[in-house]
Amino acid sequence: MPGATLSRLHHSNAEPSVMSARNARAIRRGLLAWYQRHKRDLPWRRDRDPYRVWVSEIMLQQTRVVAVIPYYERFLARFPDVRALASAPEQELLAAWAGLGYYSRARNLQKAARKILERGGFPRDFASILDLDGIGDYTASAIASIAFNLKHAALDGNAIRVLSRLTGECGNVKSGVVRERLRTAATVLIHPKRPGEFNQALMELGATVCTPKDPSCQMCPVAASCAARELGRERELPLKIARPKPVRVEQKLLVIEKSGRILAWQRGPLSPRLAGFWELPGPEELPTAKIGARIAAFQHTIVNTNYRFEVSRASIGRAPNGFRWLAAKRLNEIPLSTTAKKALQCLAGER
Ligand code: SF4
Repeated sequence: MPGATLSRLHHSNAEPSVMSARNARAIRRGLLAWYQRHKRDLPWRRDRDPYRVWVSEIMLQQTRVVAVIPYYERFLARFPDVRALASAPEQELLAAWAGLGYYSRARNLQKAARKILERGGFPRDFASILDLDGIGDYTASAIASIAFNLKHAALDGNAIRVLSRLTGECGNVKSGVVRERLRTAATVLIHPKRPGEFNQALMELGATVCTPKDPSCQMCPVAASCAARELGRERELPLKIARPKPVRVEQKLLVIEKSGRILAWQRGPLSPRLAGFWELPGPEELPTAKIGARIAAFQHTIVNTNYRFEVSRASIGRAPNGFRWLAAKRLNEIPLSTTAKKALQCLAGER
């Protein structure tokens, strides 16, 4: 069964070269034939003019297809080409965009239109398209493949879902490594002569058949090659591991001053974090310290922990072993942790 070959992709870090050429051809052929018969008639699919493809892709960022259609048609009637867009008064441009939200998209469109005119025409290679304002990797790939027939896989959320299921990808699709694996799979699968159509077919399958919660596998043109279906995991994939909720932690830092010097301790060379950095003490390191007036408080986030540090003055009879009195004026010459720096800024702010 072709799916058996594909499913090997995710279980090891095997290169997609294990995907047989025959299997990739079957997927391409099935997907493109299905797309020809079932694609939705959308206004931006009626020609491959790069300006029109570009405007549609920018509008479709963060906005649903049905909502975009009337805006797209009005926008194109008002600004039919790059020149009209480049010379539009900003107020008019924003009025045409009103309702779509995210106005930076409209401003970037105009900035890019001016750049295109300066450069003598719409760029025809991936790197130059990517260089335009408001265009990221996905949009550049979509324009390059649809308008210029360049072989670049365009991975939006729909394409990522279909590819994860097709290859049975069990890793977290938010991770860069998994994204790279899916990109490699897409690059193997993409039709060398019809890359734009292939990209659109993959995204269309994700939008209409291979939907997030309830994929219609019985109507899917590539079901015979789908690893997730073979494993009965089509509803489970792709995996998105939610970030754990941030933890809140309250801590105290003590500023102990004596004759222009500040008491601090240094992390050991094997410390898992900030090895060799100097820190201000907390009450747990100096249980005999006498805590005085509160100076201020600040927030600091480390990975998934939101700390709130309260900084107070303190005094101590004798510094215990492992602590040093550091000249306050020379603290900028040693590696101080960020939290110690922030605490000392609170102290400076108090003066
Ligand atoms: Fe998606 Fe089902 Fe098709 Fe697999 S068989 S690609 S899960 S619709």
